[in-house]
Amino acid sequence: MTGQRDPSVALQAQGVSKHYGPVAALDDVSLEVAQGECVALIGESGSGKTTLLRCFNRLTDPDAGRVLVNGENAASLDPIALRRRMGYVPQDGGLLPHWRVRRNVTLVPWLCHLTGQEGLADRALRLVGMEPAVFGGRWPGELSGGQRQRVAVARALAAGPQVILLDEPFGALDAITRADLQATFQQLRAELELTVLLVTHDLHEAVLLGDRIGVMREGRLEQIGTASELDAAPATGYVRELLQRAKVRV
Ligand code: ADP
Ligand code: MG
Repeated sequence: MTGQRDPSVALQAQGVSKHYGPVAALDDVSLEVAQGECVALIGESGSGKTTLLRCFNRLTDPDAGRVLVNGENAASLDPIALRRRMGYVPQDGGLLPHWRVRRNVTLVPWLCHLTGQEGLADRALRLVGMEPAVFGGRWPGELSGGQRQRVAVARALAAGPQVILLDEPFGALDAITRADLQATFQQLRAELELTVLLVTHDLHEAVLLGDRIGVMREGRLEQIGTASELDAAPATGYVRELLQRAKVRV
């Protein structure tokens, strides 16, 4: 098998590049995420993590290379259908402040004309531990930071996707709230058998949540592997430094 059109590979980037003027946001990135796997992308601000994530749901179109979803070329897929199959939590959570919680969570089912939209939203809210009767009618501004992130995850799950893309979903939270959300995330992942591509700037979180970790730097994927693989044989000085700085014991 060449791996070129392998449907057991949920997400695949092949030699993907994206430039913004002189800036190479992505520089020849190749990556595979197997079905049911969680890959955590780590790297400094500006290293291309968000851009890579957005190539998979076609919010960004690469200027070179190919993106495949379950073996199908994303460029030939309808973006709306693609976003139904693939939940997305943008870096700021992306909740619309003038929409109540339930309406926010109904967004993707509504865009996709699914039936039973409110039921789907309430199910998704329950999955993330938010009682719909209590929270469904609230405004995002009436939630804590952790609750807002839970709602953002519920919104990503509402249409029943197999894959979710999470952009620093637990980034701006205090340590205890963050640990709570990480635990919820682990349960959800197991229960729904999700394939996950997760962006984080925290190596500890990457080690905790990722089956494999991809290290990004200046638009390039420097290395991808399990935490122990990275630790045993860092591919570059940067990867070695990153591990040393975080004092990770794997
Ligand atoms: P990260 O998520 O790792 O912080 P990004 O993917 O957001 O990095 O950005 C990578 C690089 O591409 C940065 O230099 C950023 O300024 C640039 N970039 C990203 N999106 C745009 C855009 N829409 N227009 C211009 N430059 C962009
Ligand atoms: Mg980003």
